[in-house]
Amino acid sequence: MTTYNFAAGPAVLPKTVLEQVQKEMLNFKNSNMSILEISHRSDLFTTVYQSAKQRLLALMALSPVDYDVLFLQGGATLQFTMLPLNLATKYHRVAYLDSGHWSARAIEEAAKLKDLTVDVLTSSEDNHYTNIPEFPEVLEDTYDYLHITTNNTIEGTAYWSLPETKTPLVADMSSNFLGQTYPYEAFDVIYAGAQKNLAPAGLTIVVIKKALLQQTADNLPSMLDYTALAKKDSALNTPPVFQIYVADLVLQWLEQQGGVAAMTAINQQKAACLYDFLDQSKLFHTPVQKTARSLMNIPFLTDDPAVDQDVITKASAAGLLNLKGHRLVGGLRASLYNAMSLEGVQALVTFLKAYEQRQ
Ligand SMILES: *Cc1c(COP(=O)(O)O)cnc(C)c1O
Repeated sequence: MTTYNFAAGPAVLPKTVLEQVQKEMLNFKNSNMSILEISHRSDLFTTVYQSAKQRLLALMALSPVDYDVLFLQGGATLQFTMLPLNLATKYHRVAYLDSGHWSARAIEEAAKLKDLTVDVLTSSEDNHYTNIPEFPEVLEDTYDYLHITTNNTIEGTAYWSLPETKTPLVADMSSNFLGQTYPYEAFDVIYAGAQKNLAPAGLTIVVIKKALLQQTADNLPSMLDYTALAKKDSALNTPPVFQIYVADLVLQWLEQQGGVAAMTAINQQKAACLYDFLDQSKLFHTPVQKTARSLMNIPFLTDDPAVDQDVITKASAAGLLNLKGHRLVGGLRASLYNAMSLEGVQALVTFLKAYEQRQ
């Protein structure tokens, strides 16, 4: 049976990448060692690391003169703390737009830090996060940064335009990283947990403007210090070698698909396939407002939680896996990351149509 994995993360990876990992597993580049065994100080790994870094910046059309990339651990969640620790050095004030669960988590963690004022400028919580909050019309210029969450993994919303501001713009891009294109140079820092759209769990990407590295806080513990980590090519301690290797392969795969803009076009086609069905369905609907819809995570439901559960169970038996919505919102959720094929989405829609007709 063909199966499709709609999980929100850890999530589907390109099959050709997994096959290459399998092929190279016992003997990496004629070393007679596995990638799981080689030293992070070896030339073999340094080559992988530099390749991943260069490909990533090229795919984002960012200059290596202006931007650096860190390959870290601790998940996007550790960045909720590292970011303010490193960057809130001038005004000790930071601004957040609250667009969903993960931005609320980022706010909560920043608020734990001493000597830091965390201002939540706008929130869509009153609308149950079914849209993106309005941007503030004017933003005071006394913030160290403005933080947004470009794609709200649980609620299924995404930013389709960016706030225009002179304040450094920082984004948690975990769930639409390289899946929805942005003018990446508008951002000063972009971070993403890799397990949504790039690599296995255990790797976090931080893309940061080099100019900011000059201004980070002094005397931070080294493992929390962007500047110290950047100086050592993310290898202050042992970096996640295997995850970086898979990330490099996924980036090569993404190049073969035509890059981020081409991937976005494919993702638009995939998402439209499901949204078009949901918009005409009499059984299923999505709560998300049209202007804010995510390409990556699509929550939907019926009016009856027992029916939702029945759909999830039967879909799973038919090879359509991990469609259960997040426990905070219930219903169903289909995550259509880069590695999900159009065929997978079509199979899902065919299944949902047939289910509806049987009702
Ligand atoms: C999954 C997710 C996180 C948490 O990521 P971890 O890597 O598990 O810490 C944070 N932000 C967003 C938008 C996410 O989707």
